[in-house]
Amino acid sequence: MQDEVRVRYAPSPTGMQHIGGVRTALFNYLFARSKGGKFILRLEDTDRTRYDEKFVKNLYDTMKWLSIEWDEGGEKGGEYGPYVQSERFELYKKYAYELVEKGEAYYCFCDSERLERIRKIQTENKMAPGYDRNCRHLTAEEVKSAMDKGTPFVIRLKVPMEGVTKFNDRLLGGIEWKNEDISPDPVLLKSDGFPTYHLANVVDDHFMKISHVMRAQEWIPSTPLHVQMYRAFGWEHPEFCHLPMVNGKDGQKLSKRHGATSMNEFRARGYLPQAIINYVAMLGCSYEDGRDMYTLDELAKLFKLEHLNKSPAVFDYKKLEWYNGQYIRMLSDEELYKLTLPFITKTGDAALDVNVSEEFPAPRVGPEYSGIALDSDGEPVCVDKAVKMSGAEVKDALMRLMPLIRERLHYLTDAAEMVHFLFSEPEILSSDQIIPKRLDFEKTKEVLTAAEDFIKAVPALSHEEAEELARSMSDKLEVKLGDFMMTIRMAVTGSKVSPPLIGSILILGVERSINRIKKALRVF
Ligand code: GLU
Repeated sequence: MQDEVRVRYAPSPTGMQHIGGVRTALFNYLFARSKGGKFILRLEDTDRTRYDEKFVKNLYDTMKWLSIEWDEGGEKGGEYGPYVQSERFELYKKYAYELVEKGEAYYCFCDSERLERIRKIQTENKMAPGYDRNCRHLTAEEVKSAMDKGTPFVIRLKVPMEGVTKFNDRLLGGIEWKNEDISPDPVLLKSDGFPTYHLANVVDDHFMKISHVMRAQEWIPSTPLHVQMYRAFGWEHPEFCHLPMVNGKDGQKLSKRHGATSMNEFRARGYLPQAIINYVAMLGCSYEDGRDMYTLDELAKLFKLEHLNKSPAVFDYKKLEWYNGQYIRMLSDEELYKLTLPFITKTGDAALDVNVSEEFPAPRVGPEYSGIALDSDGEPVCVDKAVKMSGAEVKDALMRLMPLIRERLHYLTDAAEMVHFLFSEPEILSSDQIIPKRLDFEKTKEVLTAAEDFIKAVPALSHEEAEELARSMSDKLEVKLGDFMMTIRMAVTGSKVSPPLIGSILILGVERSINRIKKALRVF
């Protein structure tokens, strides 16, 4: 067995990158880094009907967003390239023919009508589906004559019809598979000369010197076949490690019904890559010191195959939300500003597609919710022309808000509504909009009347002193502190979800805050 660890993530570009794929990529990456080995990114683009360039772009883009760096492959190249299967078709052909030469594979001339007929008979008689091995026993003359006539053909592997195929899975232990249960003589090379997944995958893993194949457990049924192919070629097979499934809380395979699954959707819904990495690394794996928080570099040091779990991992969106909040708290004001601006203005990641349903409504982001758009120079500006704030003032106000909103964000998307009060004047049309649950019309009016003095005093006070003042004023009015603050909050910000009130007043300014109180008093 080779010493150097060389592992790969080998997606087919037939869809957007989702949680399952990212988990496979991440574990391969972590394993390579933990062993000082190489992580290879290979594009398995043999299925040309479902291929789309946008999926290739999404793959590279997602890996970069997550900082999962690859050593070979993709746009990078490397010693064992090309790493894109459609650029390696000649190699696969050569090795398919080599297997025929060795008597391990054969030409099959059965046309689609015949295969359809067999399929029908098998279904009618409740027999296992699969090729009936008709061409396995053609004589050399029969083959030559079909070839001379130019009959289209495929190449099929001669799978042993008796015995068992054994392999050791690093996670699951010894696996035995009856050869009669392996798909009967699967196609390796199609009639158009294109390889199937099995052929391209095995040839590439061999020539790219892959030491460990780590992939999702749904690939287990292909592995006995691959082991047979390695045997037929006379090559040593890599080690196998099939990763546990990722399910939703209901025990079903994770899908759109559970929430976001594609990376683009996580991005558009305001998740941070650090949170995704940290949480996904925990899906089916534990780390020696049992902490919750790990950076990518720490994970790369601590990852061990021995710490993988056999049972399916359960994806818990609440736990991921917790991670997201934790990583948001670690951002500097400047970083938070940069990251929330797209959500405040619905640009960049915030403009990516999301699956919308009643359970998972579209995130409330962009000018409609924040009052801020980007101008043609990419600078934030107020949408409401009545608010007279220059671009520089808008940016300054946003920057000052960052420390206030940081603690309250679960997702970057939450920022849009939280900054809104600064950039548009709240519309207070009726007293019902303001009166808190526990207060009545008269009491609310009293609080609003007292609010002017409170607001005027705030700039000269420390935070604690301002809180103290609020407490003594609410005592005097015989209302709870929470109701005192809520009344003022509703009048000043027009919303229950503003950042902390005292800080909000300071950023809004005494004059604008008092004007809003006066405006609110008009409906009392
Ligand atoms: N192209 C396969 C996929 O889409 C690769 C499976 C494997 O890792 O062998 O996942």
